[in-house]
Amino acid sequence: MSNDNTPKSNTGKMAPPQPNFKVDPNPGSHVKKMIAVVSGKGGVGKSSVTAMSALWTSRQGHSVGILDADITGPSIPRMFGVTPYDLSANENTIFPATSVTGIKVMSMNLLMENEEQPVIWRSPVITGALKQFWTDVAWGDVDYLFVDMPPGTGDVPLTVFQSLPVDGILIVTTPQDLVSMIVNKAVGMAKMMDVPILGIVENMSYIKCPHCGEEIHMFGKSHVEETAAKEGIPVVARIPIDAAMTAACDTGKIEYYSGDFMSGLAEVLPKI
Ligand code: ADP
Repeated sequence: MSNDNTPKSNTGKMAPPQPNFKVDPNPGSHVKKMIAVVSGKGGVGKSSVTAMSALWTSRQGHSVGILDADITGPSIPRMFGVTPYDLSANENTIFPATSVTGIKVMSMNLLMENEEQPVIWRSPVITGALKQFWTDVAWGDVDYLFVDMPPGTGDVPLTVFQSLPVDGILIVTTPQDLVSMIVNKAVGMAKMMDVPILGIVENMSYIKCPHCGEEIHMFGKSHVEETAAKEGIPVVARIPIDAAMTAACDTGKIEYYSGDFMSGLAEVLPKI
């Protein structure tokens, strides 16, 4: 048996050394845990799940922030009703906006004059801005910082993982997704980054009949449980389609929304 501890890839050749791209936090930030919320594509409810995860965690008495890393499709400020006027800054530090219930928010939209103005930037500029959300923003004392990741596994999400000290990943899927493919990709990325996957959230999972309460599965049988079990990942939540949630998100009133679907986080947050 060999005593050689040199890292080897599965081809037996020496694995390339992993460069360290981590950037230092702002001296005014004391963030205990960082959780990245990822999805295979846009529009599946990643931001809504990020917002509800932050809300549930904040309701448990923790101090919570949301770093909106979805630079080209930022929707967190609108959900929480925060605007550029809620940001403050001095010469070299930005202080995040604070929502009605005390959740701290930083987003590209808070730096735009008009939230409908598109961000048409190439990825090095986007990732540069993202790094500044960590280096130049004084987050203060935060127990859990949720990062609303850019969708997919491209250049920008990869840079976020390489730059920020992510402690755990939540995957958001919908029943129409090719769940096993998305989960496999996320698992591959998580392994590469050496970050644990905390769980999967299935959004838009079903509709509840307003008359009898029956769960109607519009897209047929969900495959999330079997995919999750195969990878040994817990299903943290299955969230129904709820028009009240859309309305709450679109009017900046997510904090008044009573749906409490993220209580499964109680099982997984203590693991990081
Ligand atoms: P993503 O971040 O993946 O692009 P969003 O969270 O912005 O997706 O959601 C896209 C739209 O779908 C938003 O208008 C949001 O309010 C709505 N939405 C998301 N999840 C639900 C749900 N479970 N029920 C009703 N509307 C939802």
